[in-house]
Amino acid sequence: MAFRIIESCVNCWACEPLCPSGAIQAAKPHFLIDASQCTECLGDHADPQCASICPIEGAIVDRMNNPLNPPGSLTGIGPMPRDAKESPHAQSQCHF
Ligand code: SF4
Ligand code: SF4
Repeated sequence: MAFRIIESCVNCWACEPLCPSGAIQAAKPHFLIDASQCTECLGDHADPQCASICPIEGAIVDRMNNPLNPPGSLTGIGPMPRDAKESPHAQSQCHF
């Protein structure tokens, strides 16, 4: 029972003080969760505190590698549809 912090973590320190289990460690190249200490906040909080504060979508994942903050959950901007990425017209629509 544990979550993981992955490489998209920007080492911002926001999550570390909130963990009720002391499971989050500063490390290089990115912060880590000690799987032996992470309780997924069960019994302490209604939501995982690390994911609640983390500003980076996808930086914390569950056992199935599903992001606790999936794409679009924080920004409101979802992933680009596959058709848009592959369309040769997708780039020509950009005016910047
Ligand atoms: S889910 Fe809770 S216990 Fe686990 S690392 Fe995040 S804040 Fe700590
Ligand atoms: S809050 Fe997110 S980005 Fe910041 S250190 Fe924790 S996992 Fe990394």
